[in-house]
Amino acid sequence: MTYDSSNIFAKILKGEIPCKKVFENEFCLAFHDIAPEAPVHVLVVPKMNCTSFDDFARNATAEFMHGFFISVQKVAEMLGLPEKGYRIISNHGAFASQSVAHFHVHILGGKNLGRLLP
Ligand code: AMP
Repeated sequence: MTYDSSNIFAKILKGEIPCKKVFENEFCLAFHDIAPEAPVHVLVVPKMNCTSFDDFARNATAEFMHGFFISVQKVAEMLGLPEKGYRIISNHGAFASQSVAHFHVHILGGKNLGRLLP
């Protein structure tokens, strides 16, 4: 998959499209999902042009990966999720129904989420 910088998250990162921002640092921007699937549903998007987790894992530096995933935890903590529990998901490719081709992590919580798949 080739990275296409006209994707919606690239536009949000550039400030061309608004978002409900939760957190931002040099590694990522975190904002509320437009169509939440749990009481808390936040997306954490890296400031790196990569299409999916697979691309990120292959190409991000160790320093950037560390900064990014520490940020995911920080966002979950800001949202008050660690005590009761939360789920992180990242979809890669067609079989996972990935709909935006810029790597992102979903943070879901705020209720008992049940087992992994419905
Ligand atoms: P995925 O299907 O894993 O690629 O997830 C993409 C997510 O992006 C979906 O949960 C969408 O609801 C969400 N989404 C799409 N457009 C926007 C937007 N403009 N602002 C916030 N979330 C969005």
